[in-house]
Amino acid sequence: MAPHPSDNEGFKRWAIGAARITRVLELPPLNADPAIFIQTTKDEIVKRGDWLCPDFADEEGNITLHFQAFIIEASGKRILVDPCIGNDKERDIPEFNKLNGPFLQRLEAAGLPRESIDYVLCTHLHLDHCGWNTMLVDGAWVPTFPNAQYIFAKAEYAFLSADDHRDSIAVMGDSIKPIIDAGLATFVDADHVIVDEVRLEPTHGHTPGHCAVVISSEGQEAIITGDLIHHPVQVAIPHVGDNFCWNHDMARATRRTVLERVSDRNSLLLGSHFSGPTGIYLKPDGDAWIVDQAAQVEDAAPV
Ligand SMILES: [Zn+2]
Repeated sequence: MAPHPSDNEGFKRWAIGAARITRVLELPPLNADPAIFIQTTKDEIVKRGDWLCPDFADEEGNITLHFQAFIIEASGKRILVDPCIGNDKERDIPEFNKLNGPFLQRLEAAGLPRESIDYVLCTHLHLDHCGWNTMLVDGAWVPTFPNAQYIFAKAEYAFLSADDHRDSIAVMGDSIKPIIDAGLATFVDADHVIVDEVRLEPTHGHTPGHCAVVISSEGQEAIITGDLIHHPVQVAIPHVGDNFCWNHDMARATRRTVLERVSDRNSLLLGSHFSGPTGIYLKPDGDAWIVDQAAQVEDAAPV
């Protein structure tokens, strides 16, 4: 896996009615053989190169992925969704091990310093979605967002608690337990409403408690996917699963339900691992969907 040549450190913004959503990248875009992440081949990617290249894949069929967080500003609150991998965490995957990246500086540069975050949401508790819950200070893991309430879905926490994989035990120890110990954790149902314009939506399958995040304001809607979909090729072939799913059949059904709704309502699909524009609109294409290039919006605000 190598950094994508279009590496950029910028952030990106969208307006959904009165809500504002900002994307902040943690890592440079990653170029990889699709088989490492999703159950498809380079040939399948190349076949759809006309709309996947160059934003989401290269001409050889390697896919491009982002590791990024979204910060929603709505109803007077700042809600950070999926705080990425984190610095200094010991992880088995070399690309994620003991990072020393500028994520917090990028938040600051976007005008969203860590002290200003009111809520932290994790769509699920895989290591690339909750790492910045904490940071290392004088040898101890402390909450990165000291003024935030951290929202965890009850079923997701139960799943992680029972998981004895090495990385899961590490995530619990360095990214979840310190939040509970600090009294900042709130455990909620999978359809929890955070503020008027932002709510969780149960999208189980990738993990048992996986939730997407729905932003609705003034008749417009966006959905932050978490890992219910990893790559835009899965809008065209929704049965393509990913290699890290807990229940593939449930994940497939969930993906179809969400994509259908996004297309029907003309919602903005903000893919947690989508590269390039990151936010896409869909239109029907046979019994699946395709990216609606004509509906793409420009950045709502300059960097
Ligand atoms: Zn992920």
